[in-house]
Amino acid sequence: MPTSRRAPAALLLRRGGERLLFDCGEGTQRQLQRSAVGLPEIEEIFLTHLHADHVLGLPGMLKTFALRGREAPGLTVHGPRGVRDLFGKLKPFLGRLPYPLTVVELAPGDVLERGDYRLEAFAVDHGVAAVGYALVEEERPGRFDVVAADALGIPAGPERGMLQGGEPVTLPDGRVITPDAVLGPARPGRKVTITGDTAASPNVVQAAYRSDLLVHEATFGADEAGRARETLHSTAAEAAQVAKLAEVRLLALTHVSPRYIGSELRREAQAFFAETVVPRDFDLIEIPFPERGAPRLVKRGGAGGGERSYHRVAMARMIQVATAGDVTEAEELQELLRDAGIDAEIEPLADEDGLSVLVPEDSLEAAQDAIEALSEPDDIIAEP
Ligand SMILES: [Zn+2]
Ligand SMILES: [Zn+2]
Repeated sequence: MPTSRRAPAALLLRRGGERLLFDCGEGTQRQLQRSAVGLPEIEEIFLTHLHADHVLGLPGMLKTFALRGREAPGLTVHGPRGVRDLFGKLKPFLGRLPYPLTVVELAPGDVLERGDYRLEAFAVDHGVAAVGYALVEEERPGRFDVVAADALGIPAGPERGMLQGGEPVTLPDGRVITPDAVLGPARPGRKVTITGDTAASPNVVQAAYRSDLLVHEATFGADEAGRARETLHSTAAEAAQVAKLAEVRLLALTHVSPRYIGSELRREAQAFFAETVVPRDFDLIEIPFPERGAPRLVKRGGAGGGERSYHRVAMARMIQVATAGDVTEAEELQELLRDAGIDAEIEPLADEDGLSVLVPEDSLEAAQDAIEALSEPDDIIAEP
């Protein structure tokens, strides 16, 4: 469920000029408006399953597109079995839409071929009709070897372009040059796998195999392993074991229950799989081509201009100072720190908006984690 800091499921994947939205929980259109992306004329939405926390944002967003007078482009919603029926039921909310709306049902194993990549729908284990999605880029042609091309006497011109595109060329002197003479080995594309809600599943291991990024749900921590099993969700440790078996490069845990801050789940997961992050709303994960480095989390990387920082933490002799927005937050923070067993003194700052939060130095890390639950990570600055 949503909290003041966390919105329900929605993930925007940008690839070149494309923007694919995976799930559309309540309030997704407002989160997009607040983000650096804004609310673009999304053309494709992929639903993992039809539980309310993944679809309630749809009617409002589709209606906004209509109110903007959008006639084109059309919008396609992909989802598991039952998604057509859902749209039948949404009709009274949606009324007449001025743009074409297409609803496509996908079954596990379906593959959408999309030029230089494909989207694979795969089975997950959530007790209802549900699919995960793997975006798999095709291999890219190898690097063009200019030195080899010069040595072969290939003129600088369209011939080189044809070779780069994988076509053989015939030179004026009659020699036929094949692409392999001037191209290095094919370079792998990228792969991103998004599970949606699921218990840890061998299907996911298979589908996510060697992903650059696996976005796996981790609704619970080890303390709620029984509940995870009952509700067909995953614990952080289970998601990490899936990531390890699948040999992915980076694991991002999402769909975190409000009872957790996030950092405790990250630590549980890292015991099994070190490359784990728990992104917050408006964080961004960059996935470069494999030869250009590893995928990485950019905290607040997707935040819009209005979402600026307002927390600061400075470490003095015994101490950490945080500025917080308002009294409600101070109380919330005090409670959080108390729950974490930390004695804190909180008082208003003299010359700035906000609060000073003093904690013993040996509680610094724990306090930082607790404050992170209220604030945004980039806003915490440790100052000696
Ligand atoms: Zn669900
Ligand atoms: Zn859910």
